[in-house]
Amino acid sequence: MDKFEEVMQMMAKMSGEEMQKAIEAKKKLCICRDCPSYNECAKESNELLYCAIGKSPKCITGEVGCICPGCPVTEQMGLKSEYFCTRGSEKEQRGM
Ligand code: SF4
Ligand code: SF4
Repeated sequence: MDKFEEVMQMMAKMSGEEMQKAIEAKKKLCICRDCPSYNECAKESNELLYCAIGKSPKCITGEVGCICPGCPVTEQMGLKSEYFCTRGSEKEQRGM
């Protein structure tokens, strides 16, 4: 089991409230706003944390660079994928 799978197991034991708190804490660490693929629409909609939540619902379609590998959440969660805003969450990209 890799780090991401361990984190998923741990999160599965959280209550709804604990999960919400964890999501808000991770959103604060998300560096998508500094990414070249992040656009005005995403900014106005305050979209973040695509690695957990999934694709940008209506804003980001173009891939012009992804800075996820340098994000602290990548290290914390053991993420291996990138371009979560266009390709889907880590879980989705792993086919989980
Ligand atoms: S890994 Fe990418 S999508 Fe996830 S929090 Fe970091 S910058 Fe945002
Ligand atoms: S998920 Fe990656 S490509 Fe998309 S906005 Fe965040 S850093 Fe950029």
